Amino acid sequence: PKDDSDTADELPVKKSIGGGGVVVEHYNSRPEVGVIQRQDSPIIGLKNFNNWVKSVLISKFAHPALAASSVRSQRNKGRVLDLGCGKGGDITKWSKAKICDYVGADIAAVSVEQAQERWEFSRNASRIQASFASYDFCTQNLDEVFPSDVLAKPFDVVSSQFCIHYAFEKEETARRLLRNVTNWLRPGGRFIGTIPNAEQLLENLQKLPPDSQDLSFGNSIYNVRFESREHTGVFGHKYWFFLQDAVEDVPEYLVHWDDFVSLAAEYHLHPLYKEEFHDVFSEHRDHPEFGPLMVRMRVVDNNGETSMDEDQWDAASNVQFLPT
Ligand code: SAM
Repeated sequence: PKDDSDTADELPVKKSIGGGGVVVEHYNSRPEVGVIQRQDSPIIGLKNFNNWVKSVLISKFAHPALAASSVRSQRNKGRVLDLGCGKGGDITKWSKAKICDYVGADIAAVSVEQAQERWEFSRNASRIQASFASYDFCTQNLDEVFPSDVLAKPFDVVSSQFCIHYAFEKEETARRLLRNVTNWLRPGGRFIGTIPNAEQLLENLQKLPPDSQDLSFGNSIYNVRFESREHTGVFGHKYWFFLQDAVEDVPEYLVHWDDFVSLAAEYHLHPLYKEEFHDVFSEHRDHPEFGPLMVRMRVVDNNGETSMDEDQWDAASNVQFLPT
């Protein structure tokens, strides 16, 4: 990436997700704000950081799969499926990766429309072909919502950023997601994603006083509230998540890394790399490409000082990412 226009909107949508009877219209109802207004967000440092991490993820793990793609147009190469694309905040990143085709799907119809508008706005410059559909990766197969020509060629990369955890409500919903990934990914393709850090969340839960009825923790910008301390096994360990100016108390589900790896192996997905966001930061801050990108994306200033306050930095510790 050459500039700092990667100011994607991380905001999700509110409506029923899966069978849990939960609210997602929140994501749909959140207004799309322009780049300038977005800079006023009280968590702009954290949003920039998340976007920078996703850019690193794309450069390190998606680029090789795209470079090896057999699908090419005049100057561009490779096909990407973005599951849970939201308002299309990653389209700019994919356009910088010079892909040919982008297919975006999300359960929140309003967000999908906004993603499509974002693409239309940039299509002359980006030369990317794109298709969009509203789609529930927990209950639907991709070919139920996209015409066969959109799915005729397999994808080089499937990306699912900050949303895989919604599928971990039940075994069948998680399996549906993974089946969809594997069905449409070419052999040797890459699956990349970002999920909350279950270990860290459980560690925080365990730090609460044993007799406490209130199973919540957080700081001035985020709050996590568990309903139970009990382990529910691999699926359905629910908590409510609030993030200022982004997520209004939506239900999410823990994704335990080892369980995820075992389950994904059943779908021929094998881990290449997993890292916590803080470690991605420290590993790459002196990198010749990703260090300067951090400055351009306003994660740090010219003196290397982070634009996140302590609470935003703390909130970022709850996430990790996982190319497979
Ligand atoms: N991936 C985008 C990004 O990184 O900017 C959006 C992330 S947002 C935190 C989570 C997204 O997951 C929301 O847009 C939400 O609508 C979507 N989502 C949640 N459950 C979903 C489901 N079952 N099927 C498809 N999308 C879903």
